[in-house]
Amino acid sequence: MAVERNSVVVEEYLQVIYALTGSEGPVKAIQLATRLASSPSTVHATLSRMQRDGLVEVGPKKEVLLTSKGQTKAESLVYRHQLVESFLCDRLGIPWHEVHHHAHILEHGLTPLVVERLAEFLGFPGFCPHGTPMPGSGTNLPASTLALSALEEGRDFQVVVIREVLEDQQELMEFLERHHLQPGERLKFLEKIKATDSMLLEYQGTSFSLPLGVADKIGILPLA
Ligand SMILES: [Zn+2]
Ligand SMILES: [Zn+2]
Repeated sequence: MAVERNSVVVEEYLQVIYALTGSEGPVKAIQLATRLASSPSTVHATLSRMQRDGLVEVGPKKEVLLTSKGQTKAESLVYRHQLVESFLCDRLGIPWHEVHHHAHILEHGLTPLVVERLAEFLGFPGFCPHGTPMPGSGTNLPASTLALSALEEGRDFQVVVIREVLEDQQELMEFLERHHLQPGERLKFLEKIKATDSMLLEYQGTSFSLPLGVADKIGILPLA
C-alpha cells in the first residue's frame, strides 16, 4: 500500500516541522534529515511532494515553512498524537517516558470519530503528559515559563514542560522520569558545573547532573 505509507511519512514530517518551528524557530531541511534519520535526498523528495500538495513552502533562507493548510493539518495531527499519549499514560498505565513512541505508531490509524470520542472519554485534556499544550484546546504555557538552563543557581523550581523535541530520546526520557523532571514536580538547582556544561539538580535529597543542552528544552517556573 504505497499510498498509505506515503501519507504516514507526510504526517510525520508535518509534526516534526511543527514541533521544531515551535521550539527552535525556522526549520532547515538538514534538521529534518537529522531528526527523521533520513538521507538529505529522501527529505528533499518528500518536501517537494509536500510543496506540490500545498503543505509547505520554502522561504528565502531555504527555511521550510508550513502553509496555512499545512499548519491546520499539523495541528490536528499533533492534537491526535497528544490525545493518544494521554490515553496511554493516564488510562493504560504505560510509562510516561515511552508513551510518545507508542503514540507515534498508533496515531496514524485513528478516524475523526475515534479522535472525537477519545477526547470526550479523556475529559478534553489541555496538555500532553509531557506538558505541551494541545493545539485547539485553548491552553497555553504560563507566560513566565523559563528554560531551566536560564534559572539562577540556588533556586527551587517547578517543572512545566518537557519539549516535544526530547520525546524521541527514550533513554533520556527514562532518566528524566527517574529523577522526577516531570510537569508539576518541584526540584532545586544547586549549582552550574562549567567543566561539564551541566547543572546539578536535587529532588528530595538526591542530586544528579543534567546537561545544559537538555535543560534548554525543559520549561520551568522559578519558585520563591
Ligand atoms: Zn509525543
Ligand atoms: Zn508529549
